[in-house]
Amino acid sequence: MPIYVNNNNGFELTEPLTRMCPHCGTHAQLLAVANPSYEVLAQTRPKHAGLLFRCAACNEPRFLRAAVRAITAERIELAPNVVEVERARERFQYAYLPDTIEQLLRETLDCYSLGALNAFATMCRRTTRTALRALGEKAKARWQDSLLEMLRLCEVDAVTTSTVDAVLFADDADPPAITPDEAAVLVEALKDLFYQSYVRSAKLRAAMKMRRFFADESSGKITPIDREGWRELA
Ligand SMILES: [Zn+2]
Repeated sequence: MPIYVNNNNGFELTEPLTRMCPHCGTHAQLLAVANPSYEVLAQTRPKHAGLLFRCAACNEPRFLRAAVRAITAERIELAPNVVEVERARERFQYAYLPDTIEQLLRETLDCYSLGALNAFATMCRRTTRTALRALGEKAKARWQDSLLEMLRLCEVDAVTTSTVDAVLFADDADPPAITPDEAAVLVEALKDLFYQSYVRSAKLRAAMKMRRFFADESSGKITPIDREGWRELA
């Protein structure tokens, strides 16, 4: 259903607009905040109009662009398939990463969010190499095995699998050019590898430490600070 800017500057959405919000991650309604005036649109007759909305869930501004379809004396009709000017950023639990890896992975995922897919592929390889250098000799074979296992479980086709594998692990100078579909697999694969190596292992180590602490305490190896004091009082 189309969107209208009426000649009294009233803005009319014929049905509610909902989108995934890049700020709060909610699938929420977009509420109109500002639109170009009827006069300006009628006078300048642009191909596209910029619109400002806000997210109903978190109130952050959302910028959209819509094609101008028709200009009449009563109103201006905009195409309903609005384009989001801001892309959703890829999320990751960065707090678990060493600083250098965090910076590289952020830039890598930003390239993906910006749609710079070959820059994204190049950064995937750089970030993976930097991480593997720090993780030791056997890490590369481990990462490669876990990538192939993951892609096999998800029934990813052979061409995509070999492209993703080459981007991340091949020893040649430049990663191969990638398609949008390959990039979509690559971004999930990359996040999964970094999650396994840094986030999951850190969470597991913390859980084991906590478990050992309580096990030691219940077996009496650790003396709670007040134990002696309590005995005296008794
Ligand atoms: Zn939001």
